[in-house]
Amino acid sequence: MNVAMFTARAEPAPSPADPLDHLADVLFHEMGSPGVYGRTALYEDIVERLALLITRHREADTEVMRFPPVMNRAQLERSGYLKSFPNLLGCVCGLHGTESEIDAAVSRFDAGGDWTVSLSPADLVLSPAACYPVYPIAASRGPVPAGGWRFDVGAECFRREPSRHLDRLQSFRMREFVCIGSPEHVSAFRERWIVRAQEIARDLGLTFTVDYASDPFFGRVGQMMAVSQKQQSLKFELLVPLRSEERPTACMSFNYHRDHFGTAWGIVDEAGEPAHTACVAFGMDRLAVAMFHTHGKNVARWPAAVRDLLGFPPRSDR
Ligand code: ATP
Ligand code: ZN
Ligand code: MG
Repeated sequence: MNVAMFTARAEPAPSPADPLDHLADVLFHEMGSPGVYGRTALYEDIVERLALLITRHREADTEVMRFPPVMNRAQLERSGYLKSFPNLLGCVCGLHGTESEIDAAVSRFDAGGDWTVSLSPADLVLSPAACYPVYPIAASRGPVPAGGWRFDVGAECFRREPSRHLDRLQSFRMREFVCIGSPEHVSAFRERWIVRAQEIARDLGLTFTVDYASDPFFGRVGQMMAVSQKQQSLKFELLVPLRSEERPTACMSFNYHRDHFGTAWGIVDEAGEPAHTACVAFGMDRLAVAMFHTHGKNVARWPAAVRDLLGFPPRSDR
């Protein structure tokens, strides 16, 4: 009797299922690492339709650029990433030695040893956000004209934040609209997008709030940076309650960098003053997960207005 009671108590408590777990089978293929998934056709179709919807809302005179998943390491360093999020950065490395050094590394692996000690960093990092490469490109074009510049950028991004939660991936797609210009221009751009993004979320049938936010700056100094960012209202997020009401998930963010990138890259106006910048970021994978969580796995059963918005043909049984 005592033994039975002991074994019953020693059994591990079943971990509570995450509210998004039921979507894993239809949306993703496991690839051996948390937060890195192959994507099913069902899922990818929605990501593409969401991307087209965002494109339809693009403002006139916006230059389109798409970036690869890697970017120049020195450029990210100059943007100040290591001061803010060194813990999230993924760096490309390779076997850069001589033929015999590379052979030795492979032989070590063949013998069951560790080949990775022979790796050294390349000049590339994995892009942690879609907008970083645009600032040096803009800087190379000379002074910002009075009307400012607008860009539509996108990239597959990486952040070293492994998680089992389907809304926190290590590898995910980000789409952004970026504005470079005077403080007034850039603030007005962000204000317009905070309004427009809520219209998009409403049309998609998502439940959401918009709130002040701060970036997850690293370390103790980072905590102070986060407080000051919030006090100055530099970051807003559009939050969807995917896992819980208390800890909703940021599916879009609206960021005002002031003259941070203007100063870092020497982007100046015609009077030589550093330009201000802002970006509005769409987490494409989070938006897609939010759609399936909200409307279910059967896309044919999604509300007619939502299907229509996403460009599906009308259902024949209606
Ligand atoms: P969070 O606070 O949830 O970590 P964040 O503040 O780090 O988000 P941003 O840096 O503003 O996010 O990135 C822009 C958008 O990219 C986010 O609003 C979100 O939709 C998406 N995103 C950020 N991190 C991830 C992630 N790990 N997995 C999936 N999407 C992400
Ligand atoms: Zn950005
Ligand atoms: Mg984050």
